[in-house]
Formats: sequence, C-alpha cells, structure tokens
Amino acid sequence: MVIAIANNLLGDNVRILKGEVTKAAYQGVAIAMVSVVVATLLVCFYQNNSITAAGIMSAQKNNFALWIMDGVPFVFALWGQYSGSIIAYQASAIIFDQTQELRNKAEDLEKKANYTATHDVITGLPNRSLFYDRVEQGILSANHQKKQLSILLVEIANFKEVYDTLGRTSSDQIIKQVSSRLQGVVLGTDSVARIDGNIFSILLTDSMGDMETEILAERIQKVLEPALVVERLSFAVHANIGIVQFPEHGEDVDTLVQKAGVALYMASKSKDGYAVYEPSFDQHSPRRLTLMSELRHAIERDQLELYYQPKVSIQTDELFGAEALVRWHHPKHGFISPDEFIPMAERTRMIKPLTLWVLKEAFQQCAEWHRQGKPLVVSVNLSAKDLHDPELPDLIAGVAVSTGIKPEWVILEITEGSIISHPELTLEILERLNNMGYKLSIDDFGTGYSSLAYLKKMPLTELKIDRSFVEDILVSENDDVIVNATINLAHNLGFKVTAEGVESAEIMDKLKSYGCDVAQGFYLSKPATVSDFDNWMETSEWKLKSHNIN
Ligand code: C2E
Ligand code: CA
Ligand code: CA
Repeated sequence: MVIAIANNLLGDNVRILKGEVTKAAYQGVAIAMVSVVVATLLVCFYQNNSITAAGIMSAQKNNFALWIMDGVPFVFALWGQYSGSIIAYQASAIIFDQTQELRNKAEDLEKKANYTATHDVITGLPNRSLFYDRVEQGILSANHQKKQLSILLVEIANFKEVYDTLGRTSSDQIIKQVSSRLQGVVLGTDSVARIDGNIFSILLTDSMGDMETEILAERIQKVLEPALVVERLSFAVHANIGIVQFPEHGEDVDTLVQKAGVALYMASKSKDGYAVYEPSFDQHSPRRLTLMSELRHAIERDQLELYYQPKVSIQTDELFGAEALVRWHHPKHGFISPDEFIPMAERTRMIKPLTLWVLKEAFQQCAEWHRQGKPLVVSVNLSAKDLHDPELPDLIAGVAVSTGIKPEWVILEITEGSIISHPELTLEILERLNNMGYKLSIDDFGTGYSSLAYLKKMPLTELKIDRSFVEDILVSENDDVIVNATINLAHNLGFKVTAEGVESAEIMDKLKSYGCDVAQGFYLSKPATVSDFDNWMETSEWKLKSHNIN
C-alpha cells in the first residue's frame, strides 16, 4: 500500500517536472528554427544580393553549413526530452527521499511524545493515566464476558526512609529493582504500572477473586523480602497491599482505585500487610481517602468557589490584578483548604476537570470585570499534572473563546515541579501557550531546585518569590539577602517580580526599595469572594490603573 502510494507520488512529481523541462526544450527548438531561417536568408542575400524563393532554395541545396544547422532543432528536441526526463526523475527522487525522511522524523517524535505521556520515565512501566485506560478497557470486556477483575495497590511503605538515605538517583535504582521483581511475580497478560512515587498497581484481568489475589499479595511480599542492593548498600523494603474486586466493590475505575486506597490504608494497620476492601473500612479511613471520591460531586454540585486576592504594583501603588484561589465548601466538613484537596486531585484524574472548572470561572469573572471597565489581569494556578497534558492549550483556547477574554488579560501560574519532572513536554506546552499570547509565571520560586539560568530558557514573564522568604525579610538577614538578590537577578533576566506573603507596610516598603514590581499578601487583602473583592476595590487606597494591560 505504502509502496503503491510512493510510486504514484513519484510518477506525479516526474510528470510535473518533465512538463517544466519540456517547456525549456521547446523554447530551444524554436530558437534553433529561427536561427536556421535567419541564416538561410543571410546566405541567400549574400549570394544574390536579393532575397527570392529561388535564391532560398539554392542556398539550402548548396550550403553545407545550412544542412548541419537544419539538423540542430531535431537534436535539441531529442536531447531536451531525454535530459528533461533524467533531471525530472532525479529531482523528484531527491524531494521524495527528503519528504519521507521528514515524515519518519515526525512519526518518531509523535511516538516519543505519546510514550512519555503514558509511561513512567524511571521504570518504563505504564503510568497512572495508561493504567486507568487499561482498567477501563478491562471493565468493558469483563462486563461483556461476565468476568471479575482485581486491582492491587502495592505501596513501598518505607520508601521515604530509603529516599532520605540514598537521595534521588539511587532511590530510582531501588524503584527499578522493585519494578522488575513485581513484573517477575505477575503473570503474562496482567499489567503492572507505577501510579505514584512509591505506589505500583497491578490489574488482574481474569481474576478468580479473593483467594487468588491474597495468594498473589503473599507472593509479592515474599519476592520483596530479599534485600535490594544499591551502591553496595543493602536495603530492606516493606510493602503494603490494598485489594479491590470488580464488580463487587465498584463499577468505575475512580471508585475502584479510591476503595483500593482505603484497603491499602487498612493494610498498613494490619499485621499481614495486605487487605481486601470491606465497606466497614470507610469509617476508619482518614478523611482524605473518602474526600477523594467526593471531589467529582463537589465540582458538579457547585461546592467550589473562587476567591480573589489583589496584586498591587509596588512602585506606583496601583491595583494590577488578582490571583484566583479555589475553595471547597464541603456540606459536612465545612471549608477544606486547597492545600489538602489539590494534591489529592493531582493523584487521581480529578485535576483536569478541576482545572477546567477553575479556568471557566476565572475567565468568566475576568471578562465580567473588563465589561465593567475594570481591566484586571487575572492569575490562574495550573497544576503540574495539567502541564503534562497536551490538550491543555486547546482547552484554554476553548474557554477563552466561550468567555470572550483576551489572552493578555490572563497570567497562568506554574510551579517548578512540573518543569522538572517532564521538561520537554512541559516546554512544548508552555511555548504553545506563550504563542497564543498568555503570560506565564513561575510560582513559589525558591522552594524548588531550578536555577534562574534554567528558567531563562522558558517563555516566562513573571517570577513569584515564595512567601516563606518574603514573610521573614524583616527578621531574617538570610531571607532578606535572598529576596534582594533574586529581584536583581530576575530583572537582569527580563522577568517581572511579584512578592507573595506581604503581611505588613514595612515589608512592602522594603520590597519597594529593592525595586520589586508587584506585591500580594494579607497586608493588601486576604483572598476574598467576588463581592468582597469588588467592595475592596471601591474602598481601598490602591486604585486600578485605567490602562492596565501592557
Ligand atoms: P499559592 O498559589 O502559592 O497561593 C498563595 C497562597 O498563599 C494562598 O493560599 C493564599 O491564601 C496564601 N497567602 C496569600 N497571602 C498571604 C500572606 O500574606 N500570608 C500568608 N501566610 N499566606 C498568604 P491558599 O488559597 O490556601 O492556596 C494554597 C495553594 O493551593 C496555592 O498556593 C496553590 O498552590 C494551590 N491552589 C489554590 N487554588 C488553586 C487552583 O485553582 N488550582 C491549582 N492547581 N492550585 C490551586
Ligand atoms: Ca499561585
Ligand atoms: Ca505561591
């Protein structure tokens, strides 16, 4: 099939190029014929001093040079046709080779991007997203064939100790060894995945139920018993295992994984180190495990709300914009902090719907403020997981169109963590967002590992110094030096600097003397509901610039 298409393509190219060369050959023939006519006329005139039909006939008959010239148009025509074909074939083959090469390269890149989006970099195992897809497929076929599925979550319980002792590179080696042992113990078609730093999951597609899974759990513990060796040091790892069955414990992947998490928690409290889920476990499990399954309803049932915290230009004392911060009003537990539920949403697939909800709300509010003649720049937080999703720029483009905002009215805040774990993919997504006109900001700067020089390669416009440094600049000389130096360096690299956690006028004054651009913090205002924020705008000393967007 591919060869047939290739031959057709080659044939078409040759026809087009040959047509071009044939045109040049015809011109050559025409020139040669005109030369023959002119030469004949000249010879006739030279011999008879006039041009007559008899004179032309006699010149053609007797002049040997004209005989040769008469042949030239035919030679031109033949030679033109011949060399035209050869050139056309050669040129087309070159273009064809190059196109094919480009196509192969594009395919390779696409495959690589797909692979990194669905696999764990360290072990090469499927990641959480591919695992969920496989469970979904497993559920479809199990429903069809009336079969059972089992999911086992295997947590390396003492991984934090290993990590603290060995550091990142060597603890990656431990994870690799655990992964190999798990793959060894699990049979052919069953799939092992790494769904979190220290959590592996196993899907049994044709499960015999509790007996089989408990035997497998014991085998897993046995296979992990012998110490793992890294850098000639031995490490004993210990695994807890939580087990759920489909359809008994849940009908969709989110419920199943959430229940497996509850079983895993109970396993960690049990002497065996493994547990099959039971509904009674729910009462004993920590709040976070049950909250996880409630987040979806929270989004659907309007239990979430965006609060806004002002950002003020320090040098001009004018209101610049606001950061949107999400809040969860839980009917039973009351207010739940984003610090609690965002990491939870990141571990499940809830972060995407959550981010989409936040984007829609924030963009809508931003459009509303602009309609009211209040040109605020609204900052929206993106999670690390969002930046590994190639669909993100399209989702944002869709929300922008439906709400009527312009990209320059928005700053998207990202954290260093997202860049470090998948640098290539993240950079590609950031570049697309930047090309679309969105401003990008690096949040919590100073808490991660990235250097300013590294960040310079990213299309960022703003750097937000983490509040842990800013809060203490009056009392800690260290933090004071760090903040001052960061502002200078960031300016040299072309970033605008926002200081978070500005809690007093004294801090604000100091930041002003350091040349910091924007302040955000309780001194200006705590995050507030839209109506409270509107009131604050009316009454506060920091007034909105009329032409805010630059
Ligand atoms: P963040 O992006 O660093 O947001 C700033 C946090 O600092 C907010 O906490 C804010 O209330 C708090 N803050 C602001 N000024 C001061 C101050 O002067 N002093 C002190 N002590 N704190 C101050 P919040 O709202 O609890 O949010 C916590 C984190 O949750 C955020 O940190 C952000 O990482 C995450 N988050 C919040 N909303 C969203 C969201 O819509 N999407 C995502 N992905 N993450 C969000
Ligand atoms: Ca933020
Ligand atoms: Ca921050």
